[in-house]
Amino acid sequence: KLATVLEPVQIGTLTLPNRIMMGSMHVGFERLPDGVARLADFYAERASGGAGLIVTGGAAVLPEGGMGEVYCNVYLDEHIEQLRVITEKVHQAQGRIALQLFHAGRYAYKEATGLDPVAPSPLQAPINRSKPRELDAAEIEQTIAAFAAGAVRAQKAGFDAVEIMGSEGYLINQFLSPVTNQRQDEWGGDFARRARFGIEVAKRVRAAVGPDFPVMFRMSGLDLIPDSTTMEETLQFARMLEEAGVDALNIGIGWHESKVPTISMLVPRGAYVWVARQVKQAVSIPVIASNRINDVRHAEEILRAGHCDLVSMARPFLADPQIVAKSVQGRFDEVNTCIACNQACLDHIFDGKVASCLVNPQVGREAEWALVPAAVRKKVAVVGAGPAGLEAARVLAERGHQVVLFEKQERIGGQLNYARQVPGKAEFNETLRYYRTQLARLGVEIRLGTEADADALVAEAFAEVVIATGVVPRVPEIPGRELGHVVMYDAVFEHKAKVGNRVAIVGAGGIACDLSHLLVHHEVISAQTADYLLSYRILDEQAIHRLQASKRKVFMLRRGKHVGSGLGKTTRWATLAQLKQKGVEMLTQIEYRRIAPEGVYISVNGEEQLVPADTVIIAAGATPNQSLYHALEGRLPVHLIGGAKEAGELDAKRAILEGAQVGRAI
Ligand code: SF4
Repeated sequence: KLATVLEPVQIGTLTLPNRIMMGSMHVGFERLPDGVARLADFYAERASGGAGLIVTGGAAVLPEGGMGEVYCNVYLDEHIEQLRVITEKVHQAQGRIALQLFHAGRYAYKEATGLDPVAPSPLQAPINRSKPRELDAAEIEQTIAAFAAGAVRAQKAGFDAVEIMGSEGYLINQFLSPVTNQRQDEWGGDFARRARFGIEVAKRVRAAVGPDFPVMFRMSGLDLIPDSTTMEETLQFARMLEEAGVDALNIGIGWHESKVPTISMLVPRGAYVWVARQVKQAVSIPVIASNRINDVRHAEEILRAGHCDLVSMARPFLADPQIVAKSVQGRFDEVNTCIACNQACLDHIFDGKVASCLVNPQVGREAEWALVPAAVRKKVAVVGAGPAGLEAARVLAERGHQVVLFEKQERIGGQLNYARQVPGKAEFNETLRYYRTQLARLGVEIRLGTEADADALVAEAFAEVVIATGVVPRVPEIPGRELGHVVMYDAVFEHKAKVGNRVAIVGAGGIACDLSHLLVHHEVISAQTADYLLSYRILDEQAIHRLQASKRKVFMLRRGKHVGSGLGKTTRWATLAQLKQKGVEMLTQIEYRRIAPEGVYISVNGEEQLVPADTVIIAAGATPNQSLYHALEGRLPVHLIGGAKEAGELDAKRAILEGAQVGRAI
């Protein structure tokens, strides 16, 4: 039962009704027509869904520190009226909202701003193509003044608070860290001088908004950058911020360029709460914990243990705007849980697109996709209970149709049942739990272990049929593929095939990566612990490798150049790094010669070599399973979605999106 979560809390003069905050996220709606109005609706929906406080995506305090017009800005007086649209909508929804004051420093893209990025020192970020220009003393003063002016504009626009963005490797963080600040003037050198910029920003903002306006500061609790700010300095900085008049500290983890995963599915839930706890012990103002907390019950545990005063969740509010309201009512099983996949939120943003959500594709289409009752209530068959069929059935039933869901396996989930077994992907269990609960609530009839037949569907007088029958694995034309030790990937996921200790996987896409993870999983220490030990240099990479090494040797083989090409931008690097750490070998640009009892013969640059293997797994893509579709064509209105429409990698994002579309189209 929730208790501590529901205790009101003060941020300066602002009283919040609960301790769940929606953390800052850039969702890119500003790109769309009526972007700010959409953003306002988006925040208002989360406010009415019970968020104690919402923090906006970063609003640039200066043009060179922003991301152009696809971010909110707060560097001109004319921005006040634009931003007021947001605060009015949120206040109408009885919510509270803080504007985040943002300057990207060396992370700003010249391509977006048309200006050279600026930084304490002219050191290029590994994730930016442009080298920054060093700020001179006068510009530093102007930048501090711009933060203060932005705060005043936020106040005028009706925001309830501001949050100064000082973490994630942005400008203030760049001043604090010796890695990015190599100045030898009054803004760099020893810790006190490196800290000065952030502290001056906090003081100047406080002075500008007066003593009663809540000012929060998002500070980096752990940079996860070699040789960066120490924990001792971090705690000292927290105390200095408190003295400077900051009302609450929101603890960020990692920089955007960090090599250690901070928010991906590979990071266990709540893995970084210990950082917030350390800061909390150093100060007396409220401390906010974040990163991989996606369940309000978990937030309750963290708060009850006294690790922090508030919990910030960001992506979970994309996945379910009602997460707090549902949890407060004890409807935990109805929550659509964020699975930390990043596939439709961060990956979209990094691709310059508008954010959405894999498990909730309505994000970014709020108005267009608002659910309306069906004009004519129909009896609809949905065939296949993978992600596409599940979402189609849910939306159809939500709109009032009578839905029967057919599934030939004995359980729902389709390929989600593969994904959820993969180490680090257990969050897919939540998606299955969500659909199970929703379909039961909506009265969808589920016929498990039932292969849908065209004649029977016609005889049962279904008005329309949605075909979500998924894929059939593809068998490549390699001599020897009929040998007994050659198995298909689905048989391995379904535990129908025996796998030995030397494995060659034909294919190196997303499915092959998942399979490799599953096959080499041998957890003496968790990936998170390994990252921690490495970043603090407690153990070196070789020692970690020895602890994590699997008895099983896996080779992934691919004709093309790229491994894991189906994986998202923000997670692919970490997935591949983990596989390499576990000794998986990736052989690319090869030609297959033949499969033999002793393994797979390949050629590399024309030279034949043997990849020894006692098991060969085929994970070389799939073709759409359209047999039922063709059998029904012309007899009933049929709709083809998901893998059955177009096979590809394990693409739950497209599957759920198409399920959501067809659910609104009938
Ligand atoms: Fe969470 Fe994935 Fe949705 Fe992003 S796309 S909010 S990570 S479920």
